Amino acid sequence: MRKVAFLLLLFFSVDIYPRTSDTIVSDTLSQETDEWADLRKQALRDPFADTDEFAINFANYTVEEWSYPLPGGKVISPFGGRRKHHAGTDIKTVRNDTLRAAFSGLVTLSGPHYGYGYCVVLRHANGIETLYSHNSKNLVKVGQWVDAGAAVALEGSTGRATTHHLHFETRVAGRAFNSDQIFDHENHTLRKFVVVFAKKKGGALQISSRDRLPSEIPPVDSVKTVAPVPLLPIRTPGILQNK
Ligand SMILES: [Zn+2]
Repeated sequence: MRKVAFLLLLFFSVDIYPRTSDTIVSDTLSQETDEWADLRKQALRDPFADTDEFAINFANYTVEEWSYPLPGGKVISPFGGRRKHHAGTDIKTVRNDTLRAAFSGLVTLSGPHYGYGYCVVLRHANGIETLYSHNSKNLVKVGQWVDAGAAVALEGSTGRATTHHLHFETRVAGRAFNSDQIFDHENHTLRKFVVVFAKKKGGALQISSRDRLPSEIPPVDSVKTVAPVPLLPIRTPGILQNK
């Protein structure tokens, strides 16, 4: 009888604490036999682990490998902003519109998250992280692998939002950079450039876009240094603290 009571207690305590962002990753990582295993490993890797510079050749991306995060959306507030530093790009369509994964990736956060409201963070094999926030509803769970273009959440106004919209962030090594560097927000397309991310002294991120691979001695179209950005605290799932 006591054993039954204990089991019941165990059952209910599991139920009371549904699986949240912090608890799920481990069991998905043990299934290393599926076809996404390598990409998932790559996604969890620190892109600056053994280099100060890495490049992503977006020119080679096929239409299946990327998606504009909110198709049909209009930018209502750009990165940077006028009054205070804005770490993301605000994009708006209609309430509850579908937010799409910019690239395929691993869901590392899905849940309410401070001022972000309902928030989804994806970590991609190319080294970039994308964040989708103020969602009315999240459609993915931590540990899940999503394809580019997969529905990850519905647009909303949860958290610190004065109107419903998507607050979209792109980050490398925890630093937010202007998503305009990789997306043409006016035409809803991926910029077909080679983008080089370099880690500078003090942890600053330098981004340069080139129209050829770095090995081809390319002309530098633009070089932008991203100063450290104060970010709202992100509760990192345990698996990512692998330094
Ligand atoms: Zn915003």
